[in-house]
Amino acid sequence: MTDCVFCKIIAGEIPSTKVYEDDCFLAFRDLSPVASTHVLIVPKEHIESVAVLTPEKEAEGLRGIFCVAKAVAEADGIREDGFRLVVNTGQHGGQTVPHFHLHVIGGKELGWPPFAN
Ligand code: 5GP
Ligand code: ZN
Repeated sequence: MTDCVFCKIIAGEIPSTKVYEDDCFLAFRDLSPVASTHVLIVPKEHIESVAVLTPEKEAEGLRGIFCVAKAVAEADGIREDGFRLVVNTGQHGGQTVPHFHLHVIGGKELGWPPFAN
C-alpha cells in the first residue's frame, strides 16, 4: 500500500525505533507514547483492520502475534508486572492508521475502563 504510513515504516521509507522484527512482523515504538513502554506490532502484510479479517488473512498475516507481544514485553522488562494489548478498530474504535496494529502498553498500572467518554 503506497499511501500507508506503516507500510512505509516496514519498507524503511519512514524511520522508526524498531524493537523486534521477523519474517511476518515488525515492532517499533509509538511516536506518541502513553506509557514508558508503548510499542506497535504490525504485520508486514497490509491488513487494514479486524473489520476486514478473514480466517485466511488471520492465519497468514497474524499467526504468532501474541508471542511477539510477549517477547516485546520481556525485552522491555514488563512481562511479569503485566501490560495491556489494544487493537483499535475503525472510526468508533479510535483507529487512526488503517494498517492493523497491536499496541503493547505498560510500565505502570493502567486504569480501567480505558475510554474517557
Ligand atoms: P491507532 O490510533 O490507529 O490505534 O494507533 C496509531 C498509533 O500510531 C498512534 O498511537 C500514533 O501515535 C502512532 N503513529 C502514527 N504515525 C506514526 C509514525 O509515523 N511512527 C510511529 N512510530 N508511530 C506512529
Ligand atoms: Zn499498510
